[in-house]
This record gives sequence, C-alpha cells and structure tokens, in this order.
Amino acid sequence: MKKHNFSAGPCILPQEVFKQASEAVLNFNNLDLSILEISHRSKDFVDVMEEARELALELLGLEGKGYKALFLQGGASMQFVMTAYNLLENKAGYINTGTWSDKAIKEAKIFGEVVEVASSKDKNYNYIPKGFDVPKDLDYLHLTTNNTIFGTQIKDIPTTDVPLVADMSSDIFSREIDFSKFDLIYAGAQKNMGPAGTTLVVVKEDILGKVTRQIPSMLSYATHVSKGSMFNTPPVFAVYVSMLTLRSMKAKGGISAAAEENEKKATLLYSEIDLNPLFKGYAAKEDRSLMNATFNLTEDNLKETFDTMLKEAGINGLNGHRSVGGYRASMYNALPLNSVGVLVDVMSELERKA
Ligand code: PLP
Repeated sequence: MKKHNFSAGPCILPQEVFKQASEAVLNFNNLDLSILEISHRSKDFVDVMEEARELALELLGLEGKGYKALFLQGGASMQFVMTAYNLLENKAGYINTGTWSDKAIKEAKIFGEVVEVASSKDKNYNYIPKGFDVPKDLDYLHLTTNNTIFGTQIKDIPTTDVPLVADMSSDIFSREIDFSKFDLIYAGAQKNMGPAGTTLVVVKEDILGKVTRQIPSMLSYATHVSKGSMFNTPPVFAVYVSMLTLRSMKAKGGISAAAEENEKKATLLYSEIDLNPLFKGYAAKEDRSLMNATFNLTEDNLKETFDTMLKEAGINGLNGHRSVGGYRASMYNALPLNSVGVLVDVMSELERKA
C-alpha cells in the first residue's frame, strides 16, 4: 500500500499523474517512442509545452492579462538571481521570512541596493511581519508567500504601488489569491506541480526591459519569452509531468477545489495540535501555513514511541527541517485528506498511551 507521504518534496503528485507519466516514458502519444527520446522541436512536444504554459496562466486566472508563463531550469534558487538580474536597477525591497528569503536577499545584493523592509529573523522566523511601510522608490518588493521550513504563510498580500515579485515555490496552485497583484511569480515545480528540474515563472511582460545592464541570454526573461520557453533544450520530462498535473488540477475544479481540500486537511491537523497536550505548534497561529505544519512534542521522551507509531502507520517524511527540529507535516495538493486522518489518529493514540 502507498505510504502517507508528508515529505516536504520533491515531489508529491496525484497517483494518476505518476501512472500517465510512466506510460509516456515507454510510449508517448502512441508514437512507439518515449517522451524522453522524441525531438523537443517536434509538434508533439511543442504542444506539451504550449498546453503547460496555457494551463498555468488559466489556473492562476492570468490569461489575457499581459503575462507569459515560462518553464525554466536552475530551480527557484536560479530565480533568486534572475529576478534581481532582470529587475533590479537601483533598489529592491525584500520581506525576510525565512531561509529562502534570506538566500534571495544575498543574491540580489550582487546587483544593487537591497532594503530588508521587514523581517521575522528575531524569532527564528516563526511569524510573518506586519504593519510595515513599503518605500515608494523600490524597483520591486519581493515576498516568499510560504515558508516551507518554518511553516508560516503570508495571508494578506501587501498592497503597494511598486511591482510585486513572489517566490511561491511551496504554495503555488494551493489557495485562491488575486495573482494579478503580482508582476512576477516563480515556483520550483517540485512541490505541487511536477518533478524537480523545472521552475515555473509567470511574468508580466511590461516589467521587462527596464534595467540598463546587459543580461546574458540564458538569464534574460526576454529571451525565454521571445522563444516561447524553448530557447534551449527544455527539461522535457519535468515539463510534461507538470502539464499532466495542471490538466488533472483543472479537471478536478482548479485552484478553488484544491484550496477547499487544503483547508480541510490543515484544519484537521492544527485542531489536533492545539487540543493534544503532547504537541505544540511552532508558527504563530494566525500565520500558520496550510502547506507545511511545523510542530514539536512537549515531552521529548515520547519521541521514540511516536516515531515507531508513525512508521507502523505507514507515515513518511514527518521529520522537521534541521533548522527548526521537531516535526513538519507537508500537506501538498496531492496529499489525501485520509492521510491527515491517519496522522491525527496516531497523535491521539499517543495521548491515550502516554
Ligand atoms: N523557495 C522555497 C520557498 C523553497 O521551499 C525552496 C525549496 O524547497 C526553494 C526556494 C529552493 O528551490 P530549489 O531547490 O528549486 O532551488
């Protein structure tokens, strides 16, 4: 039986997507060839890329609004570099809500002045800073909408006149937001969308071409936009599987249906964390992530028993990140509600036993 997979990635996808993907490795589109061996310039693959790009914009509600979707390489970490390379002329603002924001800040500093508009570093990133002023002279403001490691999530997207750039690697397609507030969104595929190896970038075309520096072709969004995300050999398998996931998401009712399910999963788990005296949540309640729930045992001596019970129940990937410790339950779109039920049963069984 398949394990209940609470791993933070990569990557948790619907079972039918894994099945379709494995079939395409053997025989894609009845061509008697693998998806891995057909030419990436063939119509069969170009159609895959186009469908993936269109589905991404459609699901985010950004069709016909001046945005382009790209499937790039280098992970979200490469986007820490590309965003600044392409958009930072003088000064950029960053909200520092965790390890990934911190890494993005470090890269941006290579290209210009960086202002940390707000930070939650003082409490090891267990909350989302609020009530800050955004300087008006920024080239852009950068946010990490979901902090995978610390289990916090930005619920209210700041309203500002400066362009908004967001790292949505761990919560893209998981909740309803007005995505048109953003000028650039990026997300490593490998949580809610596809295998590691591609990164979705959704960029509003009119923010490009404003910096004076020369940008190497491969690192320039304009290059990838002008070539339909086919400037060089794309990561064909990662794009194909992402397209299958987006198709499946659309067939199941899009982001609103996924969001409803994600709310149910998170409510079930957080209720147990709050009711069960053996557990304590890490993140401030109002900032809790629906995707990554971080929590600790209140009695360290129960760790071995709890870990054994988790294993026996077929639960995988619950260990917390090394910088937080404790436990982290990642509840990406493809994790069934039933798996959260199994975890909650183990937690309440521990309370009965203790
Ligand atoms: N940003 C966030 C929010 C992440 O969760 C991660 C990885 O987990 C990254 C960036 C880094 O992504 P990548 O490994 O694709 O560079």
